[in-house]
Amino acid sequence: MDISIVIPLYNEEESLPELFAWIKRVMEAGGFTYEVIFVNDGSTDNSWKVIEALKAEHRETVRGIKFRRNYGKSPALFCGFQEAQGDVVITMDADLQDSPDEIPELYRMITEEGYDLVSGWKKKRYDPLSKTIPTKLFNATARRVSGINNLHDFNCGLKAYRKEVIKNIEVYGEMHRYIPYLAKNAGFTKIGEKVVHHQARKFGKTKFGGLNRFFNGYLDLISLWFLSTFGVKPMHFFGFLGSLMFIIGAIAVIIVGISKLYAMNHGMPYRLVTDSPYFYLALTSMIIGTQLFVAGFLGELISRNSTERNKYQIEKTI
Ligand code: UDP
Ligand code: MG
Repeated sequence: MDISIVIPLYNEEESLPELFAWIKRVMEAGGFTYEVIFVNDGSTDNSWKVIEALKAEHRETVRGIKFRRNYGKSPALFCGFQEAQGDVVITMDADLQDSPDEIPELYRMITEEGYDLVSGWKKKRYDPLSKTIPTKLFNATARRVSGINNLHDFNCGLKAYRKEVIKNIEVYGEMHRYIPYLAKNAGFTKIGEKVVHHQARKFGKTKFGGLNRFFNGYLDLISLWFLSTFGVKPMHFFGFLGSLMFIIGAIAVIIVGISKLYAMNHGMPYRLVTDSPYFYLALTSMIIGTQLFVAGFLGELISRNSTERNKYQIEKTI
């Protein structure tokens, strides 16, 4: 099979028939063998009924996964990825904002130009300013942290992947915003971009409003960065900081001690050790240093028991 199209959806009943008809038109025009996997993320409207009706009409090409409740876009993508059989896997949103007309070119970039992942770039975007401005900021940070400098639009719903990529990454929580980073961490580094057409939402409204998504988005980015750099060697992070604190503490102790001894020996007036500011510096930094060390050891113990500890990306064995 050439193409699997994975579509996570939450309350998108109005869009689905039109979206499927459009995909079908494009796929047939290009002569592709394909499947469309609708992942119904606990919709409370009639989305599932619509999917069942599509399935009844197009047994061969339509597949559906129904979550019992709303888990989020990342879990929906994850489950769709597990089912996907096509050589190239396309993800797109269900709301008709992404155009199926882009699929043949995305497919070509993966199969002919050898990309592992091609992300859409909504260069001209039809969303309110309250969405587009924070998104710019978000993308700039994500580029820096991930080191994927050629992507303008990490969170574009329209992306294409070589099959190995989606079978070897685990999208969880709200990590769908950082799939290129996940892919890069798994060793898929040929990541490209294609400018795609974007349309205003035709039906319903956005499921990702509100400001807390940015806060959570940044926290997720920090977690990912931490996991990819120190995930299996937490002691390298905490041990370093702990040692640093310890050294600061030790220097402070030496200053306190020497200055008191010096004053005593030279018959100068001297203060109690506890009157010196260095005493408090020594005290706090040694306590913090010890705690960081303990955190490092705990982290090591946890990672030693983790099922991930020996999960490596093996491309080939012969
Ligand atoms: N979506 C989902 N689960 C959720 C929220 C959203 O599957 O909990 C789907 C949604 O139905 C759509 C896609 O994720 O197909 C992108 O959502 P939306 O269009 O609301 O995001 P926006 O384009 O506004 O960023
Ligand atoms: Mg949308």
